[in-house]
Amino acid sequence: MDISVVIPLYNEEESLPELVSWIARVMKEHGFSYEIIMIDDGSRDGSWEVIKALKQSYPAIKAIRFQRNYGKSAALNEGFMAAEGKVVITMDADMQDSPDEIPHLYRMIKEEGYDLVSGYKKKRFDPISKTIPSKFYNWVTRKVSGIPNLHDFNCGLKAYRKEVIKNIEVYGEMHRFIPLMAKWAGFDKIGEKVVQHRPRKYGVTKFGLNRFVNGFLDLITIVFTHRYLKQPMHFFGTWGVLFVLVGGGVLAYLASIKLLGGMLGNRVPALVFGTVTFLLGFLLFSTGLLAELISRNSPFKNEYRIKEKIE
Ligand code: UDP
Ligand code: MG
Repeated sequence: MDISVVIPLYNEEESLPELVSWIARVMKEHGFSYEIIMIDDGSRDGSWEVIKALKQSYPAIKAIRFQRNYGKSAALNEGFMAAEGKVVITMDADMQDSPDEIPHLYRMIKEEGYDLVSGYKKKRFDPISKTIPSKFYNWVTRKVSGIPNLHDFNCGLKAYRKEVIKNIEVYGEMHRFIPLMAKWAGFDKIGEKVVQHRPRKYGVTKFGLNRFVNGFLDLITIVFTHRYLKQPMHFFGTWGVLFVLVGGGVLAYLASIKLLGGMLGNRVPALVFGTVTFLLGFLLFSTGLLAELISRNSPFKNEYRIKEKIE
């Protein structure tokens, strides 16, 4: 199979028929073999009924229905697990991304040898409250990730070589950082294609202003976990030991004064400093140990309750 189109969706009933027929038209024109994997992320509108009806006319559809809303990352992850195409294309369901981009993205992966190609909505049809923070956020992510050539990390329209998506695990709200994960997993031929962006035709955005706060917290988490997940002790332990040494040193100094018959009455600041630093160091150290223990028992980050499936 040439292409899997993975579409996470949450309350997008109005868009789906147009979207599917457009994708099918593009695939047919170019003679691709394909599947459309739709992940209904706990929609409360008629999305699932619409998908079931569409399946009658478009056998290429496969669908997964979550019991509740788990978020876009969970939906993508589930779609990635199901995908069979050599090239996997993700796309939002709201028709802000154009299926006409598919053939070019496919060629970039197949012929130009990219592992991942991210869309870049150079001209965006979104409110300014979204575009300005997004510029800043992309700038920071570029710096942190060492992927200097991406302008739009969070673009929903992306293409991947199959091996890439089979080797990364998207959870939490980490879908914003898939290019980083891909790079860290060793897939570093990452490219960009300027894509058309269209105004949302139906429905409303599913991400509010907290997207920015969450986005930055996730960035810190992902950088931190990438660097220290396997060895949390390297972070906590270093600081812990350092604090214990400094605090312990101060306390030992004060103790020696006392033992030599001196008075500590005017040494209260030093005493407080020494005690607090020592305790803090001890706490950091034990946190590191706990983190180390936890990281050894990889938890069930990615288990979702699936209500129904269409194969
Ligand atoms: N989405 C999802 N689960 C969620 C939120 C969003 O599957 O909890 C889907 C949504 O239906 C759409 C895509 O993710 O297909 C992008 O969402 P949206 O268009 O609301 O984001 P925006 O374009 O405003 O960034
Ligand atoms: Mg959108």
